[in-house]
Amino acid sequence: MASLRLAVCGAAGRMGGQVVQALHAEAGLETVGLIDPADIPAALVDQFAPGAVTGSDAGQVFDAAKPDVVVDFTTASAAERSIHAALDRGISPVVGTTGLSDQAIDQIWRKCREKKIGAFIAPNFALGAVMLMRLCEVAAPFFDHVEIVELHHDRKLDAPSGTALQTARMIVSARGRPAIDVPTEKFTVQGVRGGDYQGVKIHSVRLPGLVAHQEVLFGGLGQTLSLRHDSTSRDSFMPGVMMAVRRVRSLDGLVVGLDKLMFESASG
Ligand code: NAD
Repeated sequence: MASLRLAVCGAAGRMGGQVVQALHAEAGLETVGLIDPADIPAALVDQFAPGAVTGSDAGQVFDAAKPDVVVDFTTASAAERSIHAALDRGISPVVGTTGLSDQAIDQIWRKCREKKIGAFIAPNFALGAVMLMRLCEVAAPFFDHVEIVELHHDRKLDAPSGTALQTARMIVSARGRPAIDVPTEKFTVQGVRGGDYQGVKIHSVRLPGLVAHQEVLFGGLGQTLSLRHDSTSRDSFMPGVMMAVRRVRSLDGLVVGLDKLMFESASG
């Protein structure tokens, strides 16, 4: 059987480099194109993608390398350009880049429909983090009180994490009403009760040494339930990326969220 041909956009980055290595370890996948305006380490190309076309322009690399699928871990504006360049050439994108606007996602959705191409975007590729969110939905109707503690490395730009906010949204939606926050009468230090999303308190910890972690604590009468997920290295994202790479071409248009691949039939 012919290999699935892959390009990686952001190949010089932390996630892109990891993806190139993970693709190399998978049977039936061949990395034929690497894109990044920054220098892509020669050792990465030689060891994990020998013979791949390299360059800074996604369209040019796509035309020369003819991939079936492109994996994108770049920046929101770069991703938007590479996704459209891919769709215009019939190439299916798998996107982990965060920060794409709703409007950008809507445009991608429309182009996928128009061109009948499968595409996939996930704000979190860690299977365990997606499972944690699903388990929170199960617990949420049975507990009125819930707080989220998300912990990330100190170079993370935004707070709270997209995963924490999505978890809070899913909890409130599963309850069908906001969570109940017990008001604090007196503060001696401001801000210690964290942020608030419809009664769900969210606390963001930023420290060197962390990768991506989240604990969700539910409180009820005489009991608590704590659910926790830890990404201790970027390896944690790779099984989800590989799952998406293998399935994206059979998807019916744009699918957003790894939960759709894990728990639902996303195609058809
Ligand atoms: P990084 O800064 O290490 O890498 C980004 C790379 O993109 C850089 O090498 C940069 O030169 C390259 N780039 C910039 N413009 C480009 C362009 N036009 N074409 C090609 N490459 C271009 O960042 P990172 O830690 O690898 O993260 C990348 C993205 O992935 C971020 O948006 C981050 O939030 C997201 N991320 C998502 C998940 C997930 O599970 N979905 C996990 C981790 C990180």
